[in-house]
Order: sequence, then structure tokens, then C-alpha cells
Amino acid sequence: MANYPDFVPYPFQAERHLARHPICTDGLEDHRHRVVIAGGGPVGFATALGLAKQGVASVVLEADDSVCFGSRAICVSRRSLEILHRLGVGAGFDSIGLPWTGGRSFYQGQEVLRFEMPQDDNQQFAPMVNMAQYSIEQTLLDGVQANANLIDVRWQTAVTGMSQDEAGVSLAVKTPTGAYQLHTDWLVAADGGRSAIRETMGLRLQGTSYEGRYVIVDILMKSPRPAERLAYFDPPCNPGSTVLVHKQPGDVWRIDYQLRDGEDPDQAILPEQVMPRVQSLLDMMGETAPWNPIWVGLYKANALTLERYRHGRVLFAGDAAHLVPIFGVRGFNSGIDDADNLSWKLGQVVSGCAAPALLDTYSSERVAATHENLSYGTKSTEFMAPPSFAFDLMRRAVLSLAVAHPELRSLINPRQSAPITYSASPLNGPDEWGALGPRPGTVLPECPLTQISASAHRAVFLSDQAGHGFKALVFTADGVLPPAWRRGDGESSVAVQAVALDAPHPDVDDVLWDHTGQLPQLLGARLGGVLLIRPDGHVMARWRDANHQGLAAVSTWLQQRLTADLSTSTGVTA
Ligand SMILES: Cc1cc2nc3c(=O)[nH]c(=O)nc-3n(C[C@H](O)[C@H](O)[C@H](O)COP(=O)(O)OP(=O)(O)OC[C@H]3O[C@@H](n4cnc5c(N)ncnc54)[C@H](O)[C@@H]3O)c2cc1C
Repeated sequence: MANYPDFVPYPFQAERHLARHPICTDGLEDHRHRVVIAGGGPVGFATALGLAKQGVASVVLEADDSVCFGSRAICVSRRSLEILHRLGVGAGFDSIGLPWTGGRSFYQGQEVLRFEMPQDDNQQFAPMVNMAQYSIEQTLLDGVQANANLIDVRWQTAVTGMSQDEAGVSLAVKTPTGAYQLHTDWLVAADGGRSAIRETMGLRLQGTSYEGRYVIVDILMKSPRPAERLAYFDPPCNPGSTVLVHKQPGDVWRIDYQLRDGEDPDQAILPEQVMPRVQSLLDMMGETAPWNPIWVGLYKANALTLERYRHGRVLFAGDAAHLVPIFGVRGFNSGIDDADNLSWKLGQVVSGCAAPALLDTYSSERVAATHENLSYGTKSTEFMAPPSFAFDLMRRAVLSLAVAHPELRSLINPRQSAPITYSASPLNGPDEWGALGPRPGTVLPECPLTQISASAHRAVFLSDQAGHGFKALVFTADGVLPPAWRRGDGESSVAVQAVALDAPHPDVDDVLWDHTGQLPQLLGARLGGVLLIRPDGHVMARWRDANHQGLAAVSTWLQQRLTADLSTSTGVTA
């Protein structure tokens, strides 16, 4: 950026962190760990927070000395916000992120699509908020530092080698104060797209790498324009190209534009190429405020994944496991889902409540999710950066016809990230409720509810029920639990929540009240029914009769499920 005349720094100063050397004997750390996480990016930090919530300690090894620099992920989905709130860092996203609900697409200057993401009065979170990745990481790091008793972050500590056997994993690391080795029971490889662990293990990502290049430019500019996704196809300011524009917090604007065939990427990021293109885009948009460049880089889409995310005692997550095109914003967002899925399962295994085979369901569920993400991401990429003459021709046909034929406009829809259903997961239990509402494997829909406890009424949401271990919602008219659900002397790994579908009984304490009367329609909830929620907010089972299927029976069923051999199922929908 040094050769950019009007360059200004980001409105964010990352703190630099020193390396720290643990106590070692003959180059081996004295303490053996339960969980080590390689990579202190968003996925590594989110996994550490998910483990800490269950009281499981971890060590995060991060090669760098600070959170990331430059322009990377900016769009945080509603599902990620739900998870981040559960991890205890949601307030930072609420205060910094810019919420948005839709966008517009233009072809040769004419509007061809106006889209809105699902948004209604039931929702607790916006469908999307924009927030730069350095702020995302800093917010996660603040949460990590608040859990310093359970999370040990080691900056400037790069993993250089590893080996594993049945008992655990040995790691070699390099720091400015010298190299050392450490041992752990489990290793989470969250070390990004160029994962050294993946390389060391000789594993290869499979799929498609696209040739088309995008230039990514962040600029500082004051503008009252609202946050929305703007896409310009073949715009008058940059004919033949596709341009995306997003507003970020702090008056930072992200502009992505596609390089035309034959353009030299190295030349394309020089100031004499970038500055006039950005200026002519801003002129076309009618933006007149002064602006300065902050960051210029290149992006090339990849649609790649490992075949499996569990390899013995090593679990791959985030970009180390899969690379998803940025169109549709599924990279960071799917990594947060990985962290959410993995951390509760690893927590159960480490604390001895589940067999290691539970971790195979992390792999099968998240590999299936990646294939779904890749199928959407690939379609979006083929539209945003057509990989061949035929795709380009088809795109031009769709865009030009969409001007006059609104029914074709859905083909331009950017297919933004959405929650994924584990429809064929081996963890899914009985479903006795019929077709209405979320089947096992589905993320709970959102709904406002009233929490009544000790005569106080509090506004809450259905998604708040996730993240407290396994939870059974027991639906009755007045919130009085059937005898089979009242806690006896025995321990149970299932938390119980009574839900009143009609008026709560005046004597009940700690009941959720469906004050809007939507749960029968939204969930398919019926009087006397039981719905079991996983710690990550996916529905696990739905029983018809709470009297027949009491707490003891559900606890036994769950215990069997968590200790069963779940390694053979693929988790992929048939
Ligand atoms: C231009 C661009 C725009 C994007 N926009 C979006 C978007 O809008 N929405 C979205 O969902 N996604 C987006 N993404 C994708 C998103 O940035 C990534 O998916 C996300 O950063 C993945 O997080 P991660 O923690 O898996 O990996 P990373 O963020 O890459 O973190 C990996 C960490 O591991 C560390 N590390 C690497 N090697 C080692 C080692 N040997 N030892 C120890 N530590 C190591 C690195 O320093 C780094 O901190 C975008 C990506 C790019 C490039």
C-alpha cells in the first residue's frame, strides 16, 4: 500500500501480543493438555469459547502476534449471531455490527433485483450484520481473555510439526524465544486455508479452484447510504465486470470488482488502475464525498473440502477443513457452525460423557453442511464470475431478460448463507410429531416467549433455549410438568423446561409461556409433547407423549446415543 498516494490506516489498532514460553524439560512442555487448538482465527477462538462454556480448558497456538489485518469476512449471518451470543460475545457484535436486511442488483445501470432476507417480528437478530474481520476477531478475543482461567492463548507460536498415536498428539512449535514440543489428548486444526497440519498429515482438499480474480478495495468515505448488498453487473463505470459494494462500520466501504479476461492481476492492483475505477464507480453511484484507500488485495474463489474432518485425534475446522467462495458469505459463517458443533461434542468426550465416536458425527454433519454450502457457493460464483464463455452467455441472457421479466429475477438471487439441516444425522432421534415444524436435525426457528420465574416476567426467545447442554421442552396447557418429568433423586444429563401453550398456572415457577400462541404452528408443538434440543440448537427428537416418555427414559435414550458407535453413518441426506 506504500505506493498509494492517499492511503490512510484502518480505524482500528490491533494490539501486538508477546510470545510466552511454558515450563519445559528437555524441550518438552511439562504439562500435558486435554485440548490444543492450532490457529487463533475466528474458528479457533470460537471453539475455545465453546469448550470453556462447558468448563473444558484449551490452549490456542497462534502463529501471528495480533488479530488479522486487512479485508476479509464482513458479513455475519443471523445463525452466527445466535451462536456468538451463546458464546458470550454477542454484545460486541450488537454494538459494532451494521445490520442489514436486503440488497439490490443492477444490470447496465438498470435495477433488475431487489431482495429481502427473511425478517419478521419473531426475530431476535438481524438476518446479517456487517463487521470487519479484525473487529470480529477482536470481539472473540475479548471473550477469550475474559475466560483466561480456561483458555491459554500463545501468540507467535507456530505449529511446525505433529504426529499422533492412539493415546494423543505430539506437536512441535516455533516461537521467537525458541522451539518446544507439547502433548495433547485432542488437536483442533483451525489453522486456516494453508493449514500446516493438513500439509503435515498429507491431506488434500478436493474440489474446484476458479480462475476468475476479484480486486478487493476498502476505502474510507463518509456517506449516509444505508447498509445493503449492492451488485452491479456490466456497469457503465466498469463495462464487462461485476462490482459488489458493502458498507462496514467506521465509514469503511468494501468494493469488490471482477477482473476482465486477460487482465494482469499484478498490474490491476496498482494505484493507477484502482483509483480511477473506484472513482468512476462512486461517480456512477452519485457519491461525492472525499475518499481514501485503506486496503487493496486480490481474491480467487475456491470450492474445496477435505473428505473427512476427523482424522484420529485431529479435528479439522473452518478454512483448514474447507474453502467456500465468498459469494453467499459462507466461509466465516460455516466456520462458526463448525466450532459450535465441534465444541459441544469434544466437551462431552473430554469430560467422559460420550464416546469418541461422537466426534465422527461432527465430521459427517459438517461435511454434509459443506457440500450444501459449496453447491450454493458454486452457483453464486458461476454467476458472479462466470468461469466460461457458456456461463457468461447464460448470465447475460438472464440479466437482460430480468429487466422485462420479473419472474426471472430469482435467478440473480445471491443465495446468502442460511442455517443447515442435518437431516440424515445418526444423532437424530424419534420424530412422533408428524410433518409440521422442524424435524430432527433442523435448527430451532425463532419465536418470542415470556420466561416466568419467581413471579417475574422476562421477554426471551426460543433460540435462547440452546447452549445449556441437552434440553427437553415439555409442552402443556398451563406449564405444570407431568409427574414423569419432575426431577427425582437421580442425576440426569437433560435439563427440563416446561412450556405453557395456553395461560400459565398461577403457581408455576420457571415456565416458558408462548404468549403469542405461535408454537403449535411454528414447531408443530402439541399438548403433552416433548422436544429435545441439542446444545447447538438443532432439534434432536420429538416425542408425542410426555407421560409415556418421561425424563428417566429420555436420559437413558440420550446416554445410549452418546455412547453408541456412530462412526458408520454419513450424515448426508439420501
Ligand atoms: C477477501 C475475503 C472476503 C471474505 N468475506 C467473507 C464474508 O463476508 N463472510 C464469510 O462468512 N466469510 C468470508 N470470508 C472467509 C473468511 O475470512 C474465512 O472463512 C475465515 O477467516 C476462516 O476462519 P478460520 O479461523 O478458519 O481461518 P483463519 O481466519 O485463516 O485463521 C487461521 C489462523 O491460524 C493461524 N495459523 C496459520 N498457520 C498456523 C500455524 N502453523 N500455527 C499456528 N497458527 C497458525 C493464522 O495466523 C490465523 O490466525 C472471506 C475471505 C476473504 C479472503
